[in-house]
Amino acid sequence: MRLLLFLLLPLSTLAQYSDDHSCHFAVATAATATAEDLNGYSVPLYKHETVRQVYAKLCLAAGENNRPLPGCKLVRREKYVASFSFKLKQITIEEKAYDLCASLGADSLNALAAMISHELIHFYDRHSHEADETTKRNQEWTADLEGGILAQRAGYQVYGVQAKLINSVYSSYGLPALMKGYPSQDERVKLAEKVSTQLERLWYRFKLANLMSVTGDYDAALAYYQSVADTFPSREILQNLSTVYALRGLEYWTKITDGAHIVFPFELDPESRLSKGYAAPDTMTMERIEMQNNLNNALSLAQQAIQLDENYMPARVNKACALMLLRRFDEADKAVREAAVLVSDDDDAGNGLLALLRGNLIYLEGAADNQKKAVKQWTIAKNYGSSLAETNLNIVSNTNKITLTQITGEREKMDGFPIDKYLLNLNIYDYSTALSTENKLPVINVGASEEKHYTGARTKDLKASYILIDFVSENRKSVWQCTRPDHRTETLNGISIGSTEQDVLDKYGPPSGIVQTPLGRYLLYRKSMIIFQIENGRVGEWVVYRMVNKWG
Ligand SMILES: [Zn+2]
Repeated sequence: MRLLLFLLLPLSTLAQYSDDHSCHFAVATAATATAEDLNGYSVPLYKHETVRQVYAKLCLAAGENNRPLPGCKLVRREKYVASFSFKLKQITIEEKAYDLCASLGADSLNALAAMISHELIHFYDRHSHEADETTKRNQEWTADLEGGILAQRAGYQVYGVQAKLINSVYSSYGLPALMKGYPSQDERVKLAEKVSTQLERLWYRFKLANLMSVTGDYDAALAYYQSVADTFPSREILQNLSTVYALRGLEYWTKITDGAHIVFPFELDPESRLSKGYAAPDTMTMERIEMQNNLNNALSLAQQAIQLDENYMPARVNKACALMLLRRFDEADKAVREAAVLVSDDDDAGNGLLALLRGNLIYLEGAADNQKKAVKQWTIAKNYGSSLAETNLNIVSNTNKITLTQITGEREKMDGFPIDKYLLNLNIYDYSTALSTENKLPVINVGASEEKHYTGARTKDLKASYILIDFVSENRKSVWQCTRPDHRTETLNGISIGSTEQDVLDKYGPPSGIVQTPLGRYLLYRKSMIIFQIENGRVGEWVVYRMVNKWG
């Protein structure tokens, strides 16, 4: 059987040394392969189940449940470690590879996620096995980095595990450290460590950008996303850039429209929609220009993401929304119909999203009886489970009666860490000395020419959390303390990882901002200075933040 294979580990350099088997990990020398003897042995069910769960989570984080994904199966074989076949549309993980992930203890799921996500990227990015050696090497690098980001987004902590995996593969598959035609084990480990460092930095920046989009610091978020996109222009990054531009465009849109303040799938900000006054459109020319510039950027980035992957639903949604906000209704209608092709009948979330988009489009077109028609679409969307559609129904029926209350309590803290004092004392010296050496994160310059962002991370003195830092100047700096997956303490109002979204809403009231993500949403509470990340209806992470933002 001839397979197109893409392996987990950064093996691309192999190709320089070997003119055959360039994609095999072990086959060159190890005589451990037991052929395709899949019939006489069944892999234990719980292992299949673990692979299935990790794979499902990765697919969900990738933001698509609307197109045929490859299968992902676990087989008893000792040959390729992990592989992807385009021909068979199949990711294959060998049981032995599974077992060696399992042997990594606390990192076992992280390792498995790294392995599967790497193969999934080969699928998403349509990597070709027929490519030349340089391209192949880039593909492997991309699969490691992009797969790493995907796994991180799905909640796995993968940087650092790749080197462990390589060593584990060598001992478990019985490979000699030096094999003819291959780089040495040491060289591979070094390469993995390099990728890992790169991944960690990209991830911190990506994460900061996400959090800053939630709190509305769009300029900084754009700077960070852009810096990630410069290294790494994946569709997710382009999509997030598009979303931040759309969010910024919407801020202006909110100011200059006096009635059409319905919500869109990429954002939901009840505070800005309901509590701000609306100025007369004629006096707002500058805002109008700003709005159009931002929305045009959002549109063009969504289109770039679609060029990378025409089946990428989140970008299709952004495109449709940007077009309707730009009042290019015919094109928006076409964009909604193009998105509809990606949604199958049994995809409730997808159908809810489509009905929401149709309702928004009809509503914005603004003909006399359109509100009724929009309400009809939003009702359909609501019946599919779209909470955004429900919000729109509330807004058009009952705008002024919605009151926003929020617990005006203490600011939240985590791990007993004195975050206020820490922010106050934070200065550039920390970056050049303590931070960069403590956590091996060098100073990173992102952002536009006129503004340098220094990025740092800190784990010292923290039990089950870590801190991300953005520093521009003494007058403009922020710190973000994030839970680790094993975090067990509760917030002031008794919320912890695993609490339901409803618990959060019951105890904290309506959030001051919500930003949708493929896995769920971020709920922002400005007064308490806390952000909850909701995944599948539950708190997956919470973040406590502080910022200084003094201009002039
Ligand atoms: Zn690969």
